[in-house]
Amino acid sequence: MSHMNSILDMIRNEDFDTLSRFAVVNNEMNSESDDVDEVQRDGIGDETKALNEDVDEIVNEFHVPSNFTNIEEIDMTTVDNWSVSHSVRKNDFTRQLGKDTFKDKEEVIRAIKLHAIRTHKYFEVVETCLTIWKIRCKLHSESGCKWQLRASKLKRNGYFEITKYIGPHTCLHYKITQDHPNLDARLIAQETEHLIKEQPSISIPALRAETINKLGYTPSYKKVWVGKEKAIEHVFGNWDDSYTDLPKFLSALQHFNRDTIVEWFITRLDNNQVEFIHVFWSFAPSIKGFEHCRPVISIDATHFYGKYNGKMMIGMGVDAKNQILPLAFAIAENESYNSWYSFLSHVKRHVVKEREGICLISYRHPGILKVVNEEGSPWLELRGFHRYCLRHFINNFNDKFHNSQLKTLAYRAGSQNQVMFRKYQLHHE
Ligand SMILES: [Zn+2]
Repeated sequence: MSHMNSILDMIRNEDFDTLSRFAVVNNEMNSESDDVDEVQRDGIGDETKALNEDVDEIVNEFHVPSNFTNIEEIDMTTVDNWSVSHSVRKNDFTRQLGKDTFKDKEEVIRAIKLHAIRTHKYFEVVETCLTIWKIRCKLHSESGCKWQLRASKLKRNGYFEITKYIGPHTCLHYKITQDHPNLDARLIAQETEHLIKEQPSISIPALRAETINKLGYTPSYKKVWVGKEKAIEHVFGNWDDSYTDLPKFLSALQHFNRDTIVEWFITRLDNNQVEFIHVFWSFAPSIKGFEHCRPVISIDATHFYGKYNGKMMIGMGVDAKNQILPLAFAIAENESYNSWYSFLSHVKRHVVKEREGICLISYRHPGILKVVNEEGSPWLELRGFHRYCLRHFINNFNDKFHNSQLKTLAYRAGSQNQVMFRKYQLHHE
């Protein structure tokens, strides 16, 4: 009310010059008090004390003159006057960011990094803790640029806001480098995560191209690689947690998919800890489906490409329509006689069961050959059959002779026994 009275006094005294200057400040105050209103509107059921602290903080930050009768003493028309330009530029800045409230520190950091990259400005972090993130122009010492800001966590609602802003960047940064110092692996992870989620095997050059396309800067191969690692961890969890989650995951599968087989092999260490050796599993529909499949099982193993050098073993069947049906899986530390023995005996016990005359197709790993050919093996003729995978065989053949003509001939020789089958196929087409 006292503001209103002083305005009325000025109008009565025809002091329009003071009035217009007053109006400038008053507008500032209005936009400022909008913020304060916002704070109060949001503070549903919050303790008034914390609320007042937030409001105090905002008011203190902007050094709003508390006594309007002293207004003539301050030259409000000067652009350089900090108390006026400050809030205006802060609002400009948050407008450029597209928002002024951030759900956490990560979100505010990401927004400011993207803004810095878009405007070709560099910043450096001055202070960082759980509740504060303070940065300044990276070239402040060379150029004397005073640009800085502080984002703080509000006690009231846990959101982050920019609580202090001094701008603008007076230094001129040209886009002279291919890379940007604030385009770090974390940001690359955030900006490419959607692609990695869709296709975890996506290549580093593809992610790098996406970054260039999106942000206009070219980060190093290594930075993109680290960014991909971070995104994978964010989407899929880290390697150690994945091992820890595996028992829970597999028992959930068993729970909701009855007759799914899971077999664990562990050793108990002296300190009561459990060491993982390997795990075998076969889904119930695979076990049931195999009864109707051709009497053929192909086996193979593949490397893990993550932190640990484990192997995944896979057994596949083929149905009457020549479609592949995954039958069994195992995760083992390595390929050896022991791991293949374990895998193949579980395939026999849980998938093949009493069925006779199954042909096992594999590559020529010594561990597999030993398991298949030892006494009592279900893959020995006439109980069963073992054949080499032609594709693996041809690849090894070519590695040795490096001759594409020989390779073709070897493939033809290897598939000769299929002529009858091809004639059958042609007949039925
Ligand atoms: Zn600057």
